[in-house]
Amino acid sequence: MRTIALAITTLLVGLPLLTGAQGRSPAVAAVVEELVAANRILAAQGILPGYGHVSVRHPENPDRYFLSRSLAPELVTAEDVVELDLDSVAVGSAAPRLYLERFIHGEIYKIRPDVNAVVHNHTPTVISFGIGSTALRPVFHQAAFFLDGVPVWDYRDFGTADGALVDTPARGAGLAAALEDRPAVLMRNHGVAVVGATLPMVVGRSITLETNAEIQSQALARGDEIVYLEQDEESPGSSFDRAWDLWLRQLEPTQHD
Ligand SMILES: [Zn+2]
Repeated sequence: MRTIALAITTLLVGLPLLTGAQGRSPAVAAVVEELVAANRILAAQGILPGYGHVSVRHPENPDRYFLSRSLAPELVTAEDVVELDLDSVAVGSAAPRLYLERFIHGEIYKIRPDVNAVVHNHTPTVISFGIGSTALRPVFHQAAFFLDGVPVWDYRDFGTADGALVDTPARGAGLAAALEDRPAVLMRNHGVAVVGATLPMVVGRSITLETNAEIQSQALARGDEIVYLEQDEESPGSSFDRAWDLWLRQLEPTQHD
């Protein structure tokens, strides 16, 4: 199934799978292709509408990761993907303009060896749980991955003069520390960072987190007393591999016209 998924991805980006761009090894080229697909899926699903970003750890060097240059996620191709070290400095001489908030990714990879993919987004219903007093909590089975809760990182710890962005290494380290061993951390007045072991997992978690926030908000708006999810283990399907294959297929050009 993954072979089919990669073949579809290759069609999408129009690049040869095994040669890769910029002299990349086959393993790296495959991961970069998957990162391009993640960008497009998250854009298509409304999670990264022009802003926000997704990264993946280097498959052969855990001290590096891949992230697009500063670009709307929907437009990202393999050529736009930049290799960075964990201080979020681009590797190589010709560094293009990078996302201001790339430190979110590097600082999380530093302290979370279990994390191989990170999404930062500004989905509105999730943000609403970073401004009030009601905690974001799982309300349906697919959201079991955050049964231990989602902490809120407060940019005001760094003062308000420079706004709410995570645009310095210190802010990135603060955010990563607030994340601890959780799957996501809210950023007050701003957005969320979501982490996972794979790109399909972090994409699925990002989509599910916004869906959960919407369901929870609807129940709260009715004034309901909510029964939150109680479960000891994550649901089967928490890797989101099956959904990933569908999302990839939905990205295909309309070949059947
Ligand atoms: Zn942001």
